[in-house]
Amino acid sequence: MDDGQTAEEQVKKLRELINHHNYRYYVLDSPEVSDAEYDRLMRELKKLEEENPHLVTPDSPTQRVGAAPVAEFGVINHPRPLLSLANAFSYEELLEWHHRITRLIGSRSFDLCAELKVDGLAVALTYIDGLFHHGATRGDGFRGEDITQNLRTIKSIPLSVPKDAPARFEVRGEVYLPRAGFKKLNEERAAAGLPLFANPRNAAAGSLRQLDPRITAQRPLDIYIYQLGYAEGGTMPDTHWETMQYLKTLGFKINPNNCYCQTIEKIEDYHRRWGEEREKLPHETDGIVAKVNQLALHIELGDVGREPRWAIAYKFPPIQATTRLKEIGISVGRTGTLNPYAILEPVSVGGVTIRQAALHNEQDIKRKGILIGDTIIVQRAGEVIPEVVGPVESLRTGQEKEFVMPEECPVCGAGVLRVEGEVAVRCPNLSCPAQIQERLEHFTSRGGMDIEGIGEKWAAALLAAGLVKDVADIYYLTKKQLLTLERMGDKLASNILANIEKSKTRPLVQLINALGITHVGAETADLLAGHFNSLDELANATVDDLMQIPNIGPKVARSIANFFQQEANRRVIEKLKKAGVKLEKEQVKEEALPLRGQEFVLTGRLEKLTRPQAEARIKALGGAAGDNVTRKTSYLVAGADPGSKLNRARSVGTRIINEDEFIKLLEEAEKP
Ligand code: NAD
Repeated sequence: MDDGQTAEEQVKKLRELINHHNYRYYVLDSPEVSDAEYDRLMRELKKLEEENPHLVTPDSPTQRVGAAPVAEFGVINHPRPLLSLANAFSYEELLEWHHRITRLIGSRSFDLCAELKVDGLAVALTYIDGLFHHGATRGDGFRGEDITQNLRTIKSIPLSVPKDAPARFEVRGEVYLPRAGFKKLNEERAAAGLPLFANPRNAAAGSLRQLDPRITAQRPLDIYIYQLGYAEGGTMPDTHWETMQYLKTLGFKINPNNCYCQTIEKIEDYHRRWGEEREKLPHETDGIVAKVNQLALHIELGDVGREPRWAIAYKFPPIQATTRLKEIGISVGRTGTLNPYAILEPVSVGGVTIRQAALHNEQDIKRKGILIGDTIIVQRAGEVIPEVVGPVESLRTGQEKEFVMPEECPVCGAGVLRVEGEVAVRCPNLSCPAQIQERLEHFTSRGGMDIEGIGEKWAAALLAAGLVKDVADIYYLTKKQLLTLERMGDKLASNILANIEKSKTRPLVQLINALGITHVGAETADLLAGHFNSLDELANATVDDLMQIPNIGPKVARSIANFFQQEANRRVIEKLKKAGVKLEKEQVKEEALPLRGQEFVLTGRLEKLTRPQAEARIKALGGAAGDNVTRKTSYLVAGADPGSKLNRARSVGTRIINEDEFIKLLEEAEKP
């Protein structure tokens, strides 16, 4: 990664890259690189930070857990943070960990436990007075997403526990999708023309982080509980091992392969055994976790940054093989990114024959120095997509060729978009067949044109039947056409058509957001709709015009201008216009803004509205939605399980209203 860069530049680059991967992994549940590659980047950053301690900042990915919760879910504050784990990649590193804690513990004796590191999603389940009360994702360690309803669908999570259990306690565990369930889910998705999940971990996370618990209920998710978070109102065992046995008696599912180990050598035996036998397990595992058994020592040893000292993940090595790179192919992702992949001379890696492997992006190929025709090393690191580690340069013949990224999208032929400072090369065509499913779903989603009834399923059906080739075709659908789709009834078809009709007058901001222009999310769409009076005005703006708008930088400006320069995109907009979709901004009269000058802050879980819906309604009435309670805040809307903002509002004297009062206030203000 050096390239003559200063340590500061290298650290900055690595952080940007890791933050990008964290977002893909934790928020979108759709990673672009393998875990082994991610771990490599993280180790590189840790090493640089160790060598240059002055460069460590609190927001560095080495200091933070996961990613902040997504606004669509309610937020749950964790009474005790959910941390990550330090990693060891060799026996030497495991021994270093053991020496470190032995030094800290001194002459007192302690023992250890070993567990399989199940590859899924960490959750915290809270029980109050014998009942499952709420459950959350780990989120950023301090605040997780409220996924209570989804967790209720997992049959191995007890909804009640025996009466003699503590009055209030939290258990932590890993929700995972067994291999067989993962395979079946991907087969079903392939048959329905939907994109596949990269690995069981992302499939589990994607299944659990669904806004609709009915979808979660259809996925065969399971859980292993691996820790007691805290317990109040009851005496608890004083070792981890006994605590796990106790939780088992309460009805929790504990991994049967957990092992009590007196010594560190036993941990090594356990690691070796499961390293060899992991393929036989019904779930994915990427290593083992070694834990100090005495709970009093957990408190004494404490944490370092994002990792507890009393435990360590001892990862399994990736499985590698050598083969020839025949060619580099390009696939176009659902969001338009051009992804190079390796076409290989078939090779067996750990018992699985591999014909293709991930290459991630152009920079990755350059950084690893890979040439077409090279003998290369490929690896599988537990997950499904194998990747190219690098070339074996000593075996070069001189016949190898350098890879050149195409200038045109291999699927639709549109000129690709390169954004300075960004790794991905993208196809900006709104109607590109590789992207149309994603674009259609986005176009019709709540933040977009809000067409109820066309979700993932019908979008796929419309495309498969050839009734829709670009997003504007939605407005030309007839009932007769809809009725040709399997399982489409008369009533549903009428509803969908009525919803399509209703969407023609959506505010300009929703239309802009619906187009899914690269780098233009809801916030930027808001800025653009505030600045331009119509979509045509926006379409004719130059990069310079766009950069005049506060908070719009060159990257976003170039992406917008490029989007509207595409002939194919202009055609779609023309079609929207012809269909009667309103492209102009509503001229809002002052009296239509009854909440002007008023700021609302939301806290806790709303039952009847999602956060984006609540915020859109406030804004449409001229009000503002703030993040923090200040003296300027007019109302704090307190939902269920409110956070610390409630106390703050009380101390500042802000008016506090509940969800029903808030909805009443909105409805009053919305009256003509
Ligand atoms: P981690 O997965 O390495 O370890 C911590 C987690 O292990 C815990 O939160 C818990 O969920 C889980 N776990 C499973 N079994 C456990 C057990 N028996 N006891 C305790 N914990 C157990 O750390 P992380 O912070 O969750 O994620 C970092 C890892 O995620 C990386 O090492 C990488 O593998 C992967 N990642 C990949 C990408 C990517 O783009 N591919 C991006 C981000 C993270």
